[in-house]
Amino acid sequence: MTDKFQAVVIGGGPGGYVCAIRLAQLGLKTACIESRGSLGGTCLNVGCIPSKSLLNLSEEFHNAQSLSNKGIEIGEVKLNLSKMMKNKDKAVTILTKGVEFLLKKNKVTYFKGTGSFKSKNDIVIKDNNSKETIIQTENTIIATGSVPVSLPGIEIDEKVIVSSTGALKLEQVPKKMVVVGGGYIGLEMGSVWSRLGSEVHVVEFLDHITPGMDKEISSEFMKILKKQGINFHMQHKVEKIKKNNNNAIVSTLNENGSKKDFECDVVLISVGRKPNTEGLNLQKIGVELDEKKRVKTDKNFKTNQNNIYAIGDVISGPMLAHKAEDEGIAVAENIAGQSGHVNYDTIPGVIYTSPEVASIGKTEEQLKDLKINYKIGKFSFMANSRAKAIDDTEGFVKILADEKTDKVLGAHLIGPHAGELIAEIGVAMEFGASSEDIARTCHAHPTFSEAVKEAALSVEKRAIHS
Ligand code: FAD
Ligand code: NAD
Repeated sequence: MTDKFQAVVIGGGPGGYVCAIRLAQLGLKTACIESRGSLGGTCLNVGCIPSKSLLNLSEEFHNAQSLSNKGIEIGEVKLNLSKMMKNKDKAVTILTKGVEFLLKKNKVTYFKGTGSFKSKNDIVIKDNNSKETIIQTENTIIATGSVPVSLPGIEIDEKVIVSSTGALKLEQVPKKMVVVGGGYIGLEMGSVWSRLGSEVHVVEFLDHITPGMDKEISSEFMKILKKQGINFHMQHKVEKIKKNNNNAIVSTLNENGSKKDFECDVVLISVGRKPNTEGLNLQKIGVELDEKKRVKTDKNFKTNQNNIYAIGDVISGPMLAHKAEDEGIAVAENIAGQSGHVNYDTIPGVIYTSPEVASIGKTEEQLKDLKINYKIGKFSFMANSRAKAIDDTEGFVKILADEKTDKVLGAHLIGPHAGELIAEIGVAMEFGASSEDIARTCHAHPTFSEAVKEAALSVEKRAIHS
């Protein structure tokens, strides 16, 4: 007999598993299908978590080398890369198993295998041994995420030419690494390998890194990374990559027409990711895709087919785990008859380098384009007492507020714990706060968060400590 579900989620990433749990909480008989053999998707297996583990460990390794300057003598600091990788793998295993436990606890049926549509209400699950199971569903949520893209004619072997997945499990520190693309992945993974000893060269197509980010932050970020020893080759286009056994030659062309070759041990291709819709049989059931091959949805995450929804990296919007999670919750609530929604104006973006970079709401460039008049409040970590106390003073907080109403429209931070500090501004923006609301809120001393308060004070030119 065929199993029947009120909702089936295809994909067990942060969008899919969170959606399945919320559906089950709301009383729907729910199944979640995942093909990779472990839950948590790109994020837990080959994305957010392993990269943050390596970012943290490589930062500790880097900092340990200068501890003697701070009066802590620990002798020679040596790298044991395989142990570092085991630590990272342990974090991944604990978290992916944790998600499996959560599905069980919430009575979500977990199917290991690849799901595809047989019809609008029948899903086929093919397991590793090609055994097929068919289940029936009233509602289906496509949460199949995204996969890395390469450049035309360049094949990723995950040894010499790697995507983020290969860059997370290199067995040796490359002497020289070329990173193609100065976005999230390139700068995070470039930082990891640079701290572990690689000579890192970032080749970027545009004249600035991290496109879409507030330009002032992006140029400060590049200055800091350069000081850390990362080399940047801006407005360079990769023409071809010649792979030998253990190295590669990356041929580039810059905008003036001059050519430059880079010989290196490893090339990381980090030029973006594409939605993962292959093999779902979407054409057969008539689910429409947009011009970028993402599943097309309305504001309630519904596709053009009744009772078929999509969330996360496979639809439009930023490819971020927390965006996928929030969409998962919202669509579950909509299916259950509630009114779930996601506020796309308050989705933070964080780059977990050192210092961290965090952003929420509108950038200055966007406000200018939208012809919205704004005021700026800025405060440097150089004048923050906690940052001074621990000698971590790079960066600043920038708050953008409406010129007339003082409503906070955006905030952009580079500096210690920026990824945590941004949450305060997210809450403020959700409540429609003004910069004065933040400025009049008591912040503990001495904390990094006082830099946020001072930036808010600075909107009306009344910062105390600068
Ligand atoms: P995914 O996490 O991609 O999950 C989709 C799942 O569906 C996958 O496990 C896949 O195996 C499965 N699947 C696909 N097709 C089928 C099928 N037919 N049947 C069954 N299962 C299927 N985001 C952040 O917010 N913060 C970060 O710090 C961060 N760091 C990142 C670092 C790296 C190196 C990378 C690559 C990404 C990072 N991201 C980060 C992005 C984040 O991982 C994604 O935005 C997020 O995972 C998207 O969630 P999702 O559920 O939409 O898709
Ligand atoms: P990205 O979109 O962040 O950056 C890609 C970069 O490559 C851009 O700067 C782009 O101009 C450049 N580029 C594109 N084509 C090029 C070419 N031919 N030659 C040189 N440069 C080129 O993409 P990504 O770094 O691959 O990351 C993919 C997605 O994963 C991100 O958009 C982000 O949503 C997610 N991610 C998030 C985090 C985080 O939240 N901390 C970390 C990693 C990844």
